[in-house]
Amino acid sequence: MLLAGAVTGLGPAAASAAACQAWTGVPPPSPGTSANGFNGVAVLSPCDAWAVGSDEDGTGLNQTLIEHWNGSAWTVVASPDVTGEDNFLNGVRAVSANDIWAVGESAGSGADQTLILHWNGSKWAQVPSPSPTRAPTISCPPWPRHRPATPGRSAGSPATTAPARIWPSTAANGSWLPTPSLSGNLGCACNAMEAPLPDRRAAPMKLPPVDYEAPRTVSEAVELLAEYQDQASVLAGGQSLIPLLALRLAHPAVLIDINGVAELSGVSAADGWVAVGAMTREYVAEESGTVAGVVPLLAAALPLIGHEAIRSRGTVGGSLAHADPAAELPAVARALDAEFVVCGPSGERVIPAAEWFEGYLTTSRRPDELLTEVRFPAAGRGTGVSFREVARRHGDFAIVGLAASLTLSGGAISDARLAFAGLSDVPVRAGDAEDLLVGETPSAELFDEAARRATDGIDPPADLHGSADYRKKVAAALVRRGLRAAADNAARGSD
Ligand SMILES: Cc1cc2nc3c(=O)[nH]c(=O)nc-3n(C[C@H](O)[C@H](O)[C@H](O)COP(=O)(O)OP(=O)(O)OC[C@H]3O[C@@H](n4cnc5c(N)ncnc54)[C@H](O)[C@@H]3O)c2cc1C
Repeated sequence: MLLAGAVTGLGPAAASAAACQAWTGVPPPSPGTSANGFNGVAVLSPCDAWAVGSDEDGTGLNQTLIEHWNGSAWTVVASPDVTGEDNFLNGVRAVSANDIWAVGESAGSGADQTLILHWNGSKWAQVPSPSPTRAPTISCPPWPRHRPATPGRSAGSPATTAPARIWPSTAANGSWLPTPSLSGNLGCACNAMEAPLPDRRAAPMKLPPVDYEAPRTVSEAVELLAEYQDQASVLAGGQSLIPLLALRLAHPAVLIDINGVAELSGVSAADGWVAVGAMTREYVAEESGTVAGVVPLLAAALPLIGHEAIRSRGTVGGSLAHADPAAELPAVARALDAEFVVCGPSGERVIPAAEWFEGYLTTSRRPDELLTEVRFPAAGRGTGVSFREVARRHGDFAIVGLAASLTLSGGAISDARLAFAGLSDVPVRAGDAEDLLVGETPSAELFDEAARRATDGIDPPADLHGSADYRKKVAAALVRRGLRAAADNAARGSD
Protein backbone atom coordinates (compact mmCIF):
# COMPACT_ATOMS: atom_id res chain seq x y z
CA MET A 1 0.00 0.00 0.00
CA LEU A 2 1.09 3.52 -0.50
CA LEU A 3 0.38 6.55 1.53
CA ALA A 4 -0.09 10.00 0.13
CA GLY A 5 3.13 11.37 -1.29
CA ALA A 6 6.19 10.02 -3.01
CA VAL A 7 8.40 7.15 -1.96
CA THR A 8 11.92 8.33 -2.37
CA GLY A 9 15.36 8.68 -0.87
CA LEU A 10 15.35 6.05 1.85
CA GLY A 11 17.99 5.13 4.40
CA PRO A 12 21.00 6.88 5.79
CA ALA A 13 22.93 6.75 2.55
CA ALA A 14 20.30 8.86 0.89
CA ALA A 15 21.60 12.11 2.27
CA SER A 16 25.15 13.24 2.32
CA ALA A 17 26.45 14.99 5.40
CA ALA A 18 26.79 18.13 3.31
CA ALA A 19 23.07 18.17 2.64
CA CYS A 20 22.23 18.10 6.34
CA GLN A 21 20.60 21.01 8.03
CA ALA A 22 20.96 21.82 11.67
CA TRP A 23 18.11 20.41 13.77
CA THR A 24 16.81 23.85 14.48
CA GLY A 25 14.33 24.77 11.81
CA VAL A 26 13.49 21.20 10.77
CA PRO A 27 10.05 21.43 9.18
CA PRO A 28 7.31 19.17 10.51
CA PRO A 29 6.42 16.08 8.48
CA SER A 30 3.39 16.41 6.18
CA PRO A 31 3.16 20.19 6.32
CA GLY A 32 -0.32 21.38 5.50
CA THR A 33 -2.02 18.09 6.33
CA SER A 34 -3.46 19.11 9.64
CA ALA A 35 -5.31 15.93 10.38
CA ASN A 36 -2.18 13.79 10.44
CA GLY A 37 -0.75 12.94 13.82
CA PHE A 38 2.82 11.88 14.55
CA ASN A 39 3.25 9.93 17.73
CA GLY A 40 6.79 8.63 17.58
CA VAL A 41 10.14 9.60 16.18
CA ALA A 42 13.41 7.66 16.03
CA VAL A 43 16.60 9.52 15.22
CA LEU A 44 19.60 7.62 13.84
CA SER A 45 21.49 10.75 12.85
CA PRO A 46 20.68 14.32 11.85
CA CYS A 47 20.30 12.97 8.31
CA ASP A 48 18.29 9.90 9.11
CA ALA A 49 15.15 10.04 11.22
CA TRP A 50 11.77 8.33 11.13
CA ALA A 51 8.40 9.70 12.24
CA VAL A 52 5.36 7.46 12.56
CA GLY A 53 1.71 8.11 13.30
CA SER A 54 -1.67 8.11 11.68
CA ASP A 55 -3.03 9.61 8.51
CA GLU A 56 -6.29 10.79 9.97
CA ASP A 57 -7.72 12.58 7.01
CA GLY A 58 -7.97 9.19 5.38
CA THR A 59 -5.69 9.75 2.42
CA GLY A 60 -3.52 6.80 3.36
CA LEU A 61 -4.70 3.35 2.41
CA ASN A 62 -4.62 1.97 5.92
CA GLN A 63 -4.08 5.19 7.81
CA THR A 64 -0.65 4.29 9.11
CA LEU A 65 1.81 7.02 8.25
CA ILE A 66 5.58 6.72 8.02
CA GLU A 67 7.82 9.57 7.01
CA HIS A 68 11.59 9.75 6.65
CA TRP A 69 13.89 12.72 7.20
CA ASN A 70 17.03 12.64 5.03
CA GLY A 71 18.64 15.78 6.35
CA SER A 72 16.78 18.21 4.21
CA ALA A 73 13.18 17.05 3.73
CA TRP A 74 10.55 14.63 4.99
CA THR A 75 9.17 12.10 2.53
CA VAL A 76 6.28 9.70 2.95
CA VAL A 77 7.46 6.09 2.82
CA ALA A 78 5.27 3.21 1.75
CA SER A 79 3.99 1.19 4.67
CA PRO A 80 2.64 -2.34 4.24
CA ASP A 81 -0.98 -2.83 3.33
CA VAL A 82 -2.56 -3.57 6.68
CA THR A 83 -6.22 -4.47 6.38
CA GLY A 84 -8.64 -2.21 8.18
CA GLU A 85 -9.32 1.47 8.27
CA ASP A 86 -8.43 2.63 11.71
CA ASN A 87 -4.81 1.61 12.06
CA PHE A 88 -2.21 3.82 13.62
CA LEU A 89 1.37 3.75 14.79
CA ASN A 90 2.41 5.23 18.08
CA GLY A 91 6.03 4.34 18.63
CA VAL A 92 9.20 3.71 16.66
CA ARG A 93 12.57 2.41 17.80
CA ALA A 94 15.67 2.27 15.61
CA VAL A 95 18.15 -0.50 16.43
CA SER A 96 20.23 0.32 13.35
CA ALA A 97 19.62 1.75 9.90
CA ASN A 98 18.50 -1.71 8.72
CA ASP A 99 16.54 -2.71 11.78
CA ILE A 100 13.74 -0.37 12.80
CA TRP A 101 10.49 -1.26 14.55
CA ALA A 102 7.26 0.67 14.57
CA VAL A 103 4.34 -0.39 16.76
CA GLY A 104 0.72 0.64 17.05
CA GLU A 105 -2.83 -0.58 16.87
CA SER A 106 -4.89 -2.05 14.11
CA ALA A 107 -8.65 -1.76 14.41
CA GLY A 108 -9.69 -5.33 14.42
CA SER A 109 -7.67 -6.80 11.60
CA GLY A 110 -4.57 -8.00 13.38
CA ALA A 111 -4.58 -10.76 15.94
CA ASP A 112 -4.86 -9.02 19.32
CA GLN A 113 -5.15 -5.70 17.44
CA THR A 114 -1.48 -4.98 17.91
CA LEU A 115 0.33 -3.75 14.84
CA ILE A 116 4.05 -4.23 14.37
CA LEU A 117 6.03 -3.12 11.35
CA HIS A 118 9.69 -3.70 10.61
CA TRP A 119 12.11 -1.82 8.32
CA ASN A 120 14.91 -3.99 6.93
CA GLY A 121 16.84 -1.26 5.15
CA SER A 122 14.76 -1.21 2.01
CA LYS A 123 11.12 -1.68 2.89
CA TRP A 124 8.62 -1.79 5.75
CA ALA A 125 6.82 -5.09 6.32
CA GLN A 126 4.18 -6.18 8.80
CA VAL A 127 5.43 -8.66 11.37
CA PRO A 128 3.02 -11.16 12.92
CA SER A 129 2.11 -9.92 16.35
CA PRO A 130 2.22 -12.01 19.47
CA SER A 131 -1.09 -13.52 20.38
CA PRO A 132 -1.84 -13.26 24.08
CA THR A 133 -5.20 -14.87 23.41
CA ARG A 134 -3.37 -18.13 22.88
CA ALA A 135 -1.42 -17.80 26.09
CA PRO A 136 -2.12 -20.32 28.80
CA THR A 137 -4.94 -19.54 31.19
CA ILE A 138 -3.97 -19.93 34.80
CA SER A 139 -6.63 -20.27 37.45
CA CYS A 140 -5.98 -18.87 40.88
CA PRO A 141 -7.85 -19.73 44.04
CA PRO A 142 -10.28 -17.06 45.26
CA TRP A 143 -8.83 -14.08 47.04
CA PRO A 144 -9.40 -14.38 50.75
CA ARG A 145 -11.14 -11.36 52.24
CA HIS A 146 -8.92 -8.91 54.11
CA ARG A 147 -5.83 -10.03 52.24
CA PRO A 148 -4.25 -7.77 49.70
CA ALA A 149 -5.56 -8.88 46.32
CA THR A 150 -4.76 -7.56 42.92
CA PRO A 151 -7.01 -4.51 42.81
CA GLY A 152 -9.45 -4.48 39.94
CA ARG A 153 -10.20 -8.19 40.28
CA SER A 154 -13.29 -8.86 42.30
CA ALA A 155 -12.93 -11.12 45.28
CA GLY A 156 -13.43 -14.74 44.44
CA SER A 157 -13.18 -14.45 40.68
CA PRO A 158 -10.69 -16.65 38.87
CA ALA A 159 -7.58 -14.93 37.69
CA THR A 160 -6.31 -15.30 34.20
CA THR A 161 -3.06 -14.03 32.95
CA ALA A 162 -1.76 -13.57 29.48
CA PRO A 163 1.96 -13.04 29.77
CA ALA A 164 3.61 -10.25 27.84
CA ARG A 165 5.66 -11.29 24.84
CA ILE A 166 9.12 -10.36 23.72
CA TRP A 167 10.80 -10.64 20.35
CA PRO A 168 13.97 -12.71 20.60
CA SER A 169 16.92 -10.41 20.16
CA THR A 170 18.27 -12.48 17.29
CA ALA A 171 14.86 -12.43 15.59
CA ALA A 172 16.17 -15.66 14.08
CA ASN A 173 13.17 -17.91 14.32
CA GLY A 174 10.64 -15.20 13.63
CA SER A 175 8.35 -15.87 16.56
CA TRP A 176 7.42 -14.15 19.79
CA LEU A 177 8.36 -15.69 23.12
CA PRO A 178 6.62 -15.43 26.47
CA THR A 179 8.28 -12.96 28.79
CA PRO A 180 10.18 -14.87 31.45
CA SER A 181 8.98 -14.00 34.92
CA LEU A 182 11.35 -13.46 37.81
CA SER A 183 10.49 -16.81 39.33
CA GLY A 184 10.92 -18.67 36.06
CA ASN A 185 7.27 -19.52 35.56
CA LEU A 186 4.53 -17.52 33.90
CA GLY A 187 4.03 -15.45 36.98
CA CYS A 188 0.48 -15.83 38.26
CA ALA A 189 -0.02 -13.47 41.14
CA CYS A 190 -1.78 -16.24 43.05
CA ASN A 191 1.48 -18.17 43.44
CA ALA A 192 2.71 -15.41 45.66
CA MET A 193 -0.55 -15.45 47.61
CA GLU A 194 -0.08 -19.12 48.51
CA ALA A 195 3.13 -18.32 50.32
CA PRO A 196 3.14 -16.72 53.75
CA LEU A 197 3.56 -12.97 53.56
CA PRO A 198 5.90 -12.10 56.40
CA ASP A 199 7.07 -8.90 54.76
CA ARG A 200 5.17 -7.83 51.68
CA ARG A 201 7.73 -5.15 50.94
CA ALA A 202 10.25 -7.89 50.16
CA ALA A 203 8.13 -9.26 47.30
CA PRO A 204 8.37 -7.50 43.92
CA MET A 205 5.06 -5.62 43.52
CA LYS A 206 3.81 -3.22 40.94
CA LEU A 207 1.54 -1.62 43.52
CA PRO A 208 2.72 -0.34 46.87
CA PRO A 209 1.67 -2.46 49.86
CA VAL A 210 -1.94 -1.66 50.66
CA ASP A 211 -4.68 -3.29 52.71
CA TYR A 212 -7.84 -4.38 50.99
CA GLU A 213 -11.51 -4.41 51.95
CA ALA A 214 -14.40 -5.64 49.84
CA PRO A 215 -17.75 -4.43 51.27
CA ARG A 216 -20.97 -5.85 49.82
CA THR A 217 -23.33 -2.99 50.69
CA VAL A 218 -23.28 0.80 50.70
CA SER A 219 -23.57 0.88 54.50
CA GLU A 220 -20.56 -1.47 54.89
CA ALA A 221 -18.58 0.75 52.53
CA VAL A 222 -19.56 3.88 54.44
CA GLU A 223 -18.59 2.25 57.76
CA LEU A 224 -15.16 1.45 56.33
CA LEU A 225 -14.77 5.00 55.01
CA ALA A 226 -15.73 6.36 58.44
CA GLU A 227 -13.10 4.10 60.01
CA TYR A 228 -10.23 4.88 57.62
CA GLN A 229 -11.18 8.43 56.51
CA ASP A 230 -8.52 9.87 54.20
CA GLN A 231 -6.29 6.81 54.67
CA ALA A 232 -8.67 4.95 52.33
CA SER A 233 -9.21 5.07 48.57
CA VAL A 234 -12.40 3.79 47.02
CA LEU A 235 -11.61 1.35 44.22
CA ALA A 236 -14.16 1.42 41.40
CA GLY A 237 -12.99 0.47 37.87
CA GLY A 238 -9.38 1.15 38.84
CA GLN A 239 -8.64 2.77 35.47
CA SER A 240 -7.32 5.94 37.07
CA LEU A 241 -6.56 4.80 40.62
CA ILE A 242 -4.40 1.79 39.78
CA PRO A 243 -2.02 3.80 37.56
CA LEU A 244 -1.77 6.39 40.36
CA LEU A 245 -0.82 3.63 42.80
CA ALA A 246 1.62 2.03 40.40
CA LEU A 247 3.32 5.39 39.84
CA ARG A 248 3.35 6.01 43.61
CA LEU A 249 1.29 9.17 43.13
CA ALA A 250 -1.34 7.88 45.57
CA HIS A 251 -0.48 6.18 48.86
CA PRO A 252 -3.67 4.96 50.53
CA ALA A 253 -3.30 2.60 53.47
CA VAL A 254 -6.39 0.67 52.39
CA LEU A 255 -8.38 0.11 49.23
CA ILE A 256 -12.14 -0.16 49.65
CA ASP A 257 -13.20 -2.14 46.61
CA ILE A 258 -16.86 -1.37 45.81
CA ASN A 259 -17.06 -3.70 42.80
CA GLY A 260 -19.13 -6.13 44.88
CA VAL A 261 -21.73 -3.52 45.90
CA ALA A 262 -24.50 -4.46 43.48
CA GLU A 263 -26.86 -1.65 44.56
CA LEU A 264 -24.46 0.92 43.08
CA SER A 265 -24.99 -0.18 39.46
CA GLY A 266 -27.82 0.66 37.12
CA VAL A 267 -29.60 3.35 35.12
CA SER A 268 -33.15 4.46 35.89
CA ALA A 269 -35.40 7.32 34.82
CA ALA A 270 -37.98 9.08 36.97
CA ASP A 271 -39.48 12.55 37.40
CA GLY A 272 -37.52 14.17 34.60
CA TRP A 273 -34.14 12.82 35.75
CA VAL A 274 -31.95 9.87 34.85
CA ALA A 275 -30.10 8.37 37.81
CA VAL A 276 -26.86 6.55 37.03
CA GLY A 277 -25.45 4.41 39.84
CA ALA A 278 -21.84 5.27 40.65
CA MET A 279 -20.58 1.78 39.75
CA THR A 280 -22.34 1.71 36.38
CA ARG A 281 -19.62 0.85 33.89
CA GLU A 282 -19.04 3.44 31.21
CA TYR A 283 -19.88 0.91 28.47
CA VAL A 284 -23.18 0.00 30.18
CA ALA A 285 -24.22 3.66 30.21
CA GLU A 286 -23.01 3.96 26.62
CA GLU A 287 -25.28 1.09 25.57
CA SER A 288 -28.25 2.19 27.68
CA GLY A 289 -31.37 3.08 25.68
CA THR A 290 -32.50 5.28 28.57
CA VAL A 291 -29.31 7.34 28.45
CA ALA A 292 -29.47 7.61 24.65
CA GLY A 293 -33.12 8.62 24.66
CA VAL A 294 -33.24 10.91 27.69
CA VAL A 295 -29.73 12.35 28.21
CA PRO A 296 -28.33 12.53 24.66
CA LEU A 297 -25.37 14.72 25.71
CA LEU A 298 -24.15 12.01 28.07
CA ALA A 299 -24.66 9.44 25.31
CA ALA A 300 -22.61 11.59 22.91
CA ALA A 301 -19.68 11.91 25.33
CA LEU A 302 -19.36 8.32 26.58
CA PRO A 303 -17.89 6.75 23.41
CA LEU A 304 -15.08 9.33 23.48
CA ILE A 305 -13.70 8.05 26.79
CA GLY A 306 -10.50 6.08 26.20
CA HIS A 307 -11.03 2.77 24.43
CA GLU A 308 -13.55 -0.04 24.84
CA ALA A 309 -11.28 -1.86 27.25
CA ILE A 310 -11.15 1.22 29.49
CA ARG A 311 -14.90 1.76 29.31
CA SER A 312 -15.63 -1.87 30.12
CA ARG A 313 -13.98 -1.45 33.55
CA GLY A 314 -14.22 2.32 34.14
CA THR A 315 -17.33 3.60 35.90
CA VAL A 316 -19.43 6.75 35.56
CA GLY A 317 -19.01 7.46 39.28
CA GLY A 318 -15.25 6.80 39.12
CA SER A 319 -14.75 9.29 36.31
CA LEU A 320 -16.78 11.98 38.11
CA ALA A 321 -15.17 11.30 41.51
CA HIS A 322 -11.73 11.39 39.92
CA ALA A 323 -12.63 14.81 38.43
CA ASP A 324 -9.99 15.00 35.74
CA PRO A 325 -10.63 18.41 34.14
CA ALA A 326 -9.78 17.01 30.69
CA ALA A 327 -12.30 14.16 31.00
CA GLU A 328 -15.58 14.11 29.12
CA LEU A 329 -18.08 13.29 31.87
CA PRO A 330 -17.21 16.20 34.18
CA ALA A 331 -17.91 18.63 31.31
CA VAL A 332 -21.25 16.90 30.62
CA ALA A 333 -22.21 16.99 34.31
CA ARG A 334 -21.30 20.67 34.53
CA ALA A 335 -23.17 21.58 31.32
CA LEU A 336 -26.32 19.79 32.45
CA ASP A 337 -26.20 20.84 36.12
CA ALA A 338 -26.12 17.20 37.20
CA GLU A 339 -26.61 16.29 40.86
CA PHE A 340 -24.21 14.16 42.88
CA VAL A 341 -25.62 11.94 45.60
CA VAL A 342 -23.14 11.03 48.34
CA CYS A 343 -23.71 8.85 51.37
CA GLY A 344 -21.81 9.33 54.64
CA PRO A 345 -22.18 8.41 58.31
CA SER A 346 -24.87 11.08 58.78
CA GLY A 347 -26.87 10.05 55.71
CA GLU A 348 -27.24 11.30 52.16
CA ARG A 349 -26.61 14.72 50.71
CA VAL A 350 -27.02 16.01 47.16
CA ILE A 351 -24.32 18.24 45.70
CA PRO A 352 -24.95 20.31 42.53
CA ALA A 353 -22.33 20.00 39.78
CA ALA A 354 -21.35 23.66 40.23
CA GLU A 355 -20.17 22.78 43.75
CA TRP A 356 -18.85 19.29 43.07
CA PHE A 357 -15.68 20.18 41.12
CA GLU A 358 -13.36 22.11 43.44
CA GLY A 359 -9.99 21.87 41.71
CA TYR A 360 -7.64 19.53 39.88
CA LEU A 361 -8.73 15.95 40.79
CA THR A 362 -10.55 17.45 43.78
CA THR A 363 -14.25 17.33 44.63
CA SER A 364 -16.38 18.44 47.54
CA ARG A 365 -16.92 14.81 48.63
CA ARG A 366 -15.76 14.35 52.21
CA PRO A 367 -13.33 11.49 52.95
CA ASP A 368 -16.02 9.53 54.78
CA GLU A 369 -18.57 9.85 51.96
CA LEU A 370 -19.22 7.51 49.07
CA LEU A 371 -20.54 8.78 45.75
CA THR A 372 -23.58 6.57 45.17
CA GLU A 373 -25.41 8.09 42.21
CA VAL A 374 -25.29 10.90 39.67
CA ARG A 375 -28.55 12.39 38.37
CA PHE A 376 -28.81 14.02 34.96
CA PRO A 377 -31.83 16.10 33.91
CA ALA A 378 -33.83 14.79 30.95
CA ALA A 379 -33.36 16.77 27.75
CA GLY A 380 -36.40 18.84 26.87
CA ARG A 381 -38.23 18.66 23.54
CA GLY A 382 -36.37 20.49 20.79
CA THR A 383 -32.97 19.92 22.40
CA GLY A 384 -29.94 19.22 20.24
CA VAL A 385 -26.54 18.29 21.62
CA SER A 386 -22.97 17.85 20.58
CA PHE A 387 -19.81 16.68 22.30
CA ARG A 388 -16.68 17.63 20.35
CA GLU A 389 -13.06 17.34 21.29
CA VAL A 390 -9.57 17.56 19.92
CA ALA A 391 -7.25 14.89 21.27
CA ARG A 392 -3.78 13.81 20.24
CA ARG A 393 -4.99 10.35 19.28
CA HIS A 394 -8.35 8.63 19.30
CA GLY A 395 -9.03 7.57 22.88
CA ASP A 396 -6.75 10.11 24.51
CA PHE A 397 -7.96 12.64 27.02
CA ALA A 398 -9.14 15.81 25.28
CA ILE A 399 -6.68 18.64 24.75
CA VAL A 400 -9.86 20.69 24.64
CA GLY A 401 -13.41 19.34 24.68
CA LEU A 402 -16.82 20.98 24.56
CA ALA A 403 -20.20 19.77 25.75
CA ALA A 404 -22.92 21.77 24.00
CA SER A 405 -26.69 21.65 24.31
CA LEU A 406 -29.25 23.97 22.67
CA THR A 407 -33.01 23.89 23.01
CA LEU A 408 -35.11 25.53 20.30
CA SER A 409 -38.66 26.78 20.83
CA GLY A 410 -40.43 28.28 17.86
CA GLY A 411 -37.11 28.67 16.03
CA ALA A 412 -35.41 30.63 18.84
CA ILE A 413 -32.93 29.32 21.40
CA SER A 414 -34.66 28.90 24.74
CA ASP A 415 -31.83 27.15 26.58
CA ALA A 416 -28.08 27.05 25.89
CA ARG A 417 -25.42 25.11 27.75
CA LEU A 418 -21.71 25.07 27.02
CA ALA A 419 -19.03 23.48 29.20
CA PHE A 420 -15.37 23.02 28.33
CA ALA A 421 -12.98 20.23 29.27
CA GLY A 422 -9.24 20.88 29.31
CA LEU A 423 -9.24 24.64 29.76
CA SER A 424 -8.82 24.89 33.52
CA ASP A 425 -8.41 22.74 36.63
CA VAL A 426 -12.19 22.16 36.64
CA PRO A 427 -14.74 21.90 33.82
CA VAL A 428 -15.76 25.43 32.84
CA ARG A 429 -19.19 26.80 31.86
CA ALA A 430 -19.22 29.54 29.20
CA GLY A 431 -21.90 31.65 30.90
CA ASP A 432 -21.46 34.82 28.83
CA ALA A 433 -21.86 32.91 25.59
CA GLU A 434 -24.91 31.07 26.94
CA ASP A 435 -26.53 34.40 27.90
CA LEU A 436 -25.87 35.74 24.42
CA LEU A 437 -27.49 32.73 22.75
CA VAL A 438 -30.75 32.59 24.68
CA GLY A 439 -33.61 34.32 22.82
CA GLU A 440 -31.70 34.47 19.52
CA THR A 441 -32.19 32.60 16.27
CA PRO A 442 -29.30 30.29 15.34
CA SER A 443 -26.96 31.78 12.73
CA ALA A 444 -23.29 31.59 11.79
CA GLU A 445 -22.75 35.19 12.99
CA LEU A 446 -24.35 34.42 16.35
CA PHE A 447 -22.16 31.35 16.81
CA ASP A 448 -19.02 33.35 15.86
CA GLU A 449 -19.87 35.89 18.52
CA ALA A 450 -20.61 33.12 21.03
CA ALA A 451 -17.19 31.60 20.30
CA ARG A 452 -15.58 34.99 20.91
CA ARG A 453 -17.42 35.48 24.20
CA ALA A 454 -16.77 31.92 25.35
CA THR A 455 -13.02 32.31 24.91
CA ASP A 456 -12.53 35.99 25.78
CA GLY A 457 -10.54 36.30 28.94
CA ILE A 458 -9.88 32.57 29.38
CA ASP A 459 -6.37 31.58 30.36
CA PRO A 460 -5.94 27.92 29.43
CA PRO A 461 -2.97 25.90 30.65
CA ALA A 462 0.00 25.29 28.36
CA ASP A 463 1.77 21.94 28.24
CA LEU A 464 3.54 19.70 25.75
CA HIS A 465 0.22 19.04 23.97
CA GLY A 466 -0.44 22.68 23.16
CA SER A 467 0.17 26.28 24.11
CA ALA A 468 -2.46 28.41 25.84
CA ASP A 469 -3.04 30.26 22.58
CA TYR A 470 -3.54 27.02 20.67
CA ARG A 471 -6.07 25.80 23.25
CA LYS A 472 -7.92 29.09 22.99
CA LYS A 473 -8.18 28.79 19.20
CA VAL A 474 -9.31 25.17 19.46
CA ALA A 475 -11.91 26.16 22.06
CA ALA A 476 -13.35 28.85 19.77
CA ALA A 477 -13.50 26.43 16.84
CA LEU A 478 -15.23 23.83 19.01
CA VAL A 479 -17.86 26.38 20.08
CA ARG A 480 -18.66 27.25 16.46
CA ARG A 481 -18.77 23.60 15.38
CA GLY A 482 -20.54 22.36 18.51
CA LEU A 483 -23.26 24.99 18.30
CA ARG A 484 -23.79 24.35 14.61
CA ALA A 485 -24.18 20.60 15.23
CA ALA A 486 -26.41 21.09 18.28
CA ALA A 487 -28.63 23.59 16.42
CA ASP A 488 -28.95 21.23 13.45
CA ASN A 489 -30.05 18.32 15.55
CA ALA A 490 -32.29 20.53 17.70
CA ALA A 491 -34.01 21.73 14.53
CA ARG A 492 -34.56 18.11 13.48
CA GLY A 493 -35.90 17.22 16.94
CA SER A 494 -38.26 20.18 17.19
CA ASP A 495 -39.90 19.43 13.83
C1 LIG B 1 -5.42 4.42 28.91
C2 LIG B 1 -6.53 5.20 29.54
C3 LIG B 1 -7.18 6.16 28.78
C4 LIG B 1 -8.21 6.89 29.35
N1 LIG B 1 -8.81 7.84 28.60
C5 LIG B 1 -9.80 8.56 29.15
C6 LIG B 1 -10.46 9.56 28.39
O1 LIG B 1 -10.17 9.80 27.22
N2 LIG B 1 -11.45 10.27 29.00
C7 LIG B 1 -11.82 10.02 30.31
O2 LIG B 1 -12.72 10.69 30.81
N3 LIG B 1 -11.23 9.08 31.03
C8 LIG B 1 -10.23 8.34 30.49
N4 LIG B 1 -9.63 7.38 31.24
C9 LIG B 1 -10.06 7.20 32.65
C10 LIG B 1 -11.28 6.32 32.72
O3 LIG B 1 -12.43 6.98 32.23
C11 LIG B 1 -11.55 5.93 34.15
O4 LIG B 1 -12.45 4.89 34.08
C12 LIG B 1 -12.12 6.96 35.09
O5 LIG B 1 -11.42 8.15 35.11
C13 LIG B 1 -12.09 6.46 36.51
O6 LIG B 1 -13.10 5.53 36.67
P1 LIG B 1 -12.83 4.21 37.45
O7 LIG B 1 -14.15 3.58 37.65
O8 LIG B 1 -11.80 3.41 36.78
O9 LIG B 1 -12.33 4.78 38.87
P2 LIG B 1 -11.08 4.41 39.75
O10 LIG B 1 -9.84 4.50 38.96
O11 LIG B 1 -11.33 3.16 40.49
O12 LIG B 1 -11.18 5.63 40.78
C14 LIG B 1 -10.84 6.93 40.40
C15 LIG B 1 -10.93 7.85 41.62
O13 LIG B 1 -12.28 8.04 42.01
C16 LIG B 1 -12.49 7.56 43.34
N5 LIG B 1 -13.79 6.90 43.34
C17 LIG B 1 -14.23 6.02 42.42
N6 LIG B 1 -15.51 5.70 42.67
C18 LIG B 1 -15.87 6.37 43.76
C19 LIG B 1 -17.08 6.45 44.51
N7 LIG B 1 -18.18 5.77 44.16
N8 LIG B 1 -17.11 7.26 45.60
C20 LIG B 1 -16.02 7.97 45.94
N9 LIG B 1 -14.87 7.95 45.29
C21 LIG B 1 -14.78 7.15 44.21
C22 LIG B 1 -11.34 6.62 43.62
O14 LIG B 1 -11.06 6.54 45.00
C23 LIG B 1 -10.22 7.29 42.84
O15 LIG B 1 -9.69 8.36 43.58
C24 LIG B 1 -8.61 6.64 30.71
C25 LIG B 1 -7.97 5.64 31.45
C26 LIG B 1 -6.94 4.93 30.88
C27 LIG B 1 -6.26 3.88 31.70
